[in-house]
Amino acid sequence: AEAQLRQIQKMEAVGQLTGGIAHDFNNMLAVVVGGLELAKRKLHNHAADAERHIDNAMEGANRAAALTRRLLAFARAEPLLPQAVSPDTLVTGMTDLMDRTLGERIQLAFETVPGLWPIWVDRHQLENAILNLAVNARDAMEHGGRLTIRTSNAVLAADEVGESPPGDYVRIDVSDTGAGMTPEILDRVFEPFFTTKPVGKGTGLGLSQIFGFVRQSGGEVAIASTPGAGTTVSLYLPRHHVYGTDLPETEETPTVADS
Ligand code: ADP
Repeated sequence: AEAQLRQIQKMEAVGQLTGGIAHDFNNMLAVVVGGLELAKRKLHNHAADAERHIDNAMEGANRAAALTRRLLAFARAEPLLPQAVSPDTLVTGMTDLMDRTLGERIQLAFETVPGLWPIWVDRHQLENAILNLAVNARDAMEHGGRLTIRTSNAVLAADEVGESPPGDYVRIDVSDTGAGMTPEILDRVFEPFFTTKPVGKGTGLGLSQIFGFVRQSGGEVAIASTPGAGTTVSLYLPRHHVYGTDLPETEETPTVADS
């Protein structure tokens, strides 16, 4: 029944927003077609101009492709493939990727605690979620800043965060020193396709996807944000109880799909 309810909610969300997608998609295609037309005109005498127009067209096409991939991932109830994961290992494994994503003006810091619990989660989707949060943080720190990822153990009471059942969770905070959000924006961030970013840059699917994935994994998401000071997104994921010896974690290189 709960899965059905989720499906209904998802279909409603998809239905509501089809118009928005068509609009975004048309704008992206206009960039592609316009760029190619200009390039064709400049092909013979202005090779450098032509190249620039082709680059613009390619960028538009790539954005359109990324949007469709995200839409598909959103509409298709992607099955989760959970496994035992140690969250601090997962996060430190993403350092290179994060550095490249954040650029030079954003400092990256990682804080954890000894004895951090393992969790039972789809590791690729968790990596994607963290990367998406990092991209949002970067976009909120145009003039640079600091991104801190903090992992800790958290014992939650019932409904302490969202609708959490009481119990043990691992908390993953992704904190930035960026622009922050007004209460009005904060109120809407989990709505699919809600974005304050320019057309073509934001799809508004990042946080709604993360919310869906974390809830499906038995966890909760909380956001604290102060305009002008920064934002902390906290993911709570249920503790995985390991009986016996070491955590049988399979080591993999993190692979992360488009953001
Ligand atoms: P997108 O990033 O494509 O806009 P999201 O669902 O990830 O989609 O985010 C929705 C909106 O929430 C963003 O457009 C932005 O206004 C706001 N937001 C998300 N993360 C942050 C952040 N770290 N700092 C400030 N605003 C944020």
